Amino acid sequence: MKLQEFQAKKLLLAQGLPVPDFSVAATPAEARQAALPYLGMGAGRVVIKAQVLVGGRGKAGGVKLATSADEAEELAGQILGMDIKGITVRRVLVAPAAEIAREFYLGAVLDRSARRVLLMGSAEGGVEIEEVAAERPEAIVRVHAHPHLGLLDYQARQLAFAMGLGTQHLRAFVAIATGLHRTMLANDADLVEINPLAIVLEHLPDAVAGESLQCLDAKITIDDSALERHPELELLRDLDEEDPVDVQARQEGLSFIRLDGSIGCMVNGAGLAMTTMDLIKRAGGEPANFLDIGGGAKHEKVAAAMSLILSDPSVRAILVNIFGGIARGDEVAQGLVDARRQQERHVPMVVRIVGTNADEAARILAESGDPDVQTAASLDDAVEKAVAVAARAAVGA
Ligand code: GDP
Ligand code: MN
Repeated sequence: MKLQEFQAKKLLLAQGLPVPDFSVAATPAEARQAALPYLGMGAGRVVIKAQVLVGGRGKAGGVKLATSADEAEELAGQILGMDIKGITVRRVLVAPAAEIAREFYLGAVLDRSARRVLLMGSAEGGVEIEEVAAERPEAIVRVHAHPHLGLLDYQARQLAFAMGLGTQHLRAFVAIATGLHRTMLANDADLVEINPLAIVLEHLPDAVAGESLQCLDAKITIDDSALERHPELELLRDLDEEDPVDVQARQEGLSFIRLDGSIGCMVNGAGLAMTTMDLIKRAGGEPANFLDIGGGAKHEKVAAAMSLILSDPSVRAILVNIFGGIARGDEVAQGLVDARRQQERHVPMVVRIVGTNADEAARILAESGDPDVQTAASLDDAVEKAVAVAARAAVGA
């Protein structure tokens, strides 16, 4: 689950990281109200930033600077309602604008193969790090945190030197990098990114200019499987920005991932689902989705799974592969029959159900009299039939 910038910044603040003050506004008038105190406190400008779960908002025109409350209101009016990479902006973040001297990148990701948290830093901050990684991978420095002791101070210093940060900000950087690692652990995050981590010029009251390190942008992704431990984070989920198919799948307790092919799959068990996809590919077909309906699937769940599969217009055939253990074959078969009676789009279906109550399942399917439903004796047979049906439908189309 991705968090919006303002939510991510709150999590950074909770770990003591330096983040400039900010407010969130949903209307131009609110943006004006939010900007007033910052401008009054001596900030020459405020920054207005679109809150959407995509990167590159700056380039897309979703980050703008205003020098007055009037301008803040006007620019917020331009950004709110703007379409950024297909997402409509509904909120903006308003903050005193930082005077940036230099921009760095600092991020932490879960490195599963190393079974450690990997910290990455780069002097090429501000721009999208994926571009830097693709074009100049040597410009990104990496260090793995210790699995038990966390990110050690000397490791943070190594990162800082390799990033060319300079000694003046070393102490602050160590606090930020170790705090980033703590943010990762405290929230079970997959990714915590600060881009830019900026050297900011401060104009102190006595007119002596100083510099500080500030987290000007934040991106956090929480491990979905850990959300049960973080009910306060689950509440932050932004349903408006999620694919409706993902929202529906989660509500029904289904693991569903859409793919590009034409054969919809309904399988119980993740391992069996992956095997089914492999066999489809081997037989020359392409799966349209990964779908694990889970154990003990009741027929309402089967109907929900069916409607998810059919919501994809490129599905030309459906392959149902159920191994009845806790899930009863007859329950699944009845669910399939009911679902097919309700749905508007009729797509040919091949069903293989083995295990608990398989005979009864076969009887229910036969008695339904649906000419577009075939049963299969083996998985190989089922896959072959599904691929053939999908190929025929594609030619017919
Ligand atoms: P992103 O494009 O979605 O990653 O959004 P960012 O928050 O990273 O903003 C993009 C760019 O806008 C940054 O790299 C900065 O150059 C600029 N920017 C963001 N915040 C400020 C600010 O407070 N002051 C100034 N001067 N520029 C900012
Ligand atoms: Mn950024």
